[in-house]
Amino acid sequence: MTPRYSSVTEIQKDLGSGVITLTELVQYYLDRIQQNQHLNAFVEVYAEEVVSRAKEVESKIKSGTAGRLAGMVVGLKDNLCYKDHVVTASSKILEGFTSLYTSTAVQRLLDEDAIIIGRLSCDEFAMGSSNEKSVYGPVLNPVNEKCVPGGSSGGSAAAVAADLCLAALGSDTGGSIRQPAAYTNVIGLKPTYGRISRYGLIAYASSFDQIGPLTHSLEDAFLLLDVMSGPDGFDGTLYNEKYTLSEVEAKPLKIAVLKDCLYREGLNVEIKERFLSLIEKLKNEGHTIEEVNFPFVDQLVPTYYVLTTAEASSNLSRFDGIHYGYRAKEAKGIEETYKKSRTEGFGTEVKRRIMLGTFVLSSGYYDAYYSRAQKVRRVIQNKTNEILSQFDVIITPTTADTAFEMGKKSADPIAMYLEDIFTVQANLSGHPAISIPLGKKKNEMPFGVQLLGPSFQENHLLQAARQLEKCISGF
Ligand code: GLN
Repeated sequence: MTPRYSSVTEIQKDLGSGVITLTELVQYYLDRIQQNQHLNAFVEVYAEEVVSRAKEVESKIKSGTAGRLAGMVVGLKDNLCYKDHVVTASSKILEGFTSLYTSTAVQRLLDEDAIIIGRLSCDEFAMGSSNEKSVYGPVLNPVNEKCVPGGSSGGSAAAVAADLCLAALGSDTGGSIRQPAAYTNVIGLKPTYGRISRYGLIAYASSFDQIGPLTHSLEDAFLLLDVMSGPDGFDGTLYNEKYTLSEVEAKPLKIAVLKDCLYREGLNVEIKERFLSLIEKLKNEGHTIEEVNFPFVDQLVPTYYVLTTAEASSNLSRFDGIHYGYRAKEAKGIEETYKKSRTEGFGTEVKRRIMLGTFVLSSGYYDAYYSRAQKVRRVIQNKTNEILSQFDVIITPTTADTAFEMGKKSADPIAMYLEDIFTVQANLSGHPAISIPLGKKKNEMPFGVQLLGPSFQENHLLQAARQLEKCISGF
């Protein structure tokens, strides 16, 4: 569907000229959420709070003191802490848990006068590719309600796509922003690892996790990045320079196409055809495109799963039935409390990953799996850097196919894991990557194109994405 507004600039223009008031705008989104409850994207709506907040921001607009995000109505993935608001990572184990502090990313949105409208469902602990694994039940894809919206930030993608809010925050550990963005026809940006503080993001795999925006426009995505980025003193892996949005002059691009992705069995023919015609079009417009080898495509997903499950098994050890959320009722003694609370509180997929992660870290297997996967990660990083030393960007389809029918991959974890075949590279290497809508299959299901660029050079990624977007809109 076409959203009423596709960027905050449009909103600010209408607010300025009196076409709409902020109170009316907030009401518009509240009504949309109400009418689309069946999508199951929002698990909580801050209805009263946003009305008073709209008034507050309105008076700031009048007095000329409003921040850069005044007019932006944003939804939050259910793994971002927001003080005095419930956060559960869509897991039973965090049932009823209220944040004690606000994450840096969310605080910075508030400081620039964004309005946070509610909390969005995700796969439990951000583990998944379909948003079927949420304690709140599956989220539906607004494009086709029989299909999944992708995951794990499926609630965020569905909410933006269905115009329930202007933008949403998600988190991307292996593709969880870009894959659902592609499946719902919106833009999804995973910044360079270290760009946005992870303070207040419920950890899944700490050396992979990045917060990022899902939006309708490139300008909103990079504006949100600008607002959220930069040091805060709370995340030791944070880059010490903030990102500042600036439009880099458009120049012909040198683009690398990964042969091993493009000619891979399993890439849907309609996606491939459209991708190839995009390449033709880009060539005709004066860009240089070369097919390059990336011989590690088969290693991407296994390496990702060894390392992320290892990190998850450690990160999730804090959920013990004592400190947070859910505690098993009948448990006696500390050990039984741990065991029963974790057995009852975690879902099957999360348990699978904790066990796998514990296994790859256990003595005797550490060298064979964990330590080896770390080395493979380095090889993948080096190869990606080598390609990016010769090219401005790497392009691939975001996903091998479009959104699948609900339930289709539930019984097959490997098929689900392979959903991320083209997206995990950027998380293993740390590079920024973005998915923008590329087209639709004959059955109307959307898909995206992914651009991966050099670390901490998001303005170059923006410039490249702008050129691609222009090119795509013309055919
Ligand atoms: N689908 C991937 C996983 O299940 C990615 C999740 C993510 O990026 N949070 O781990």
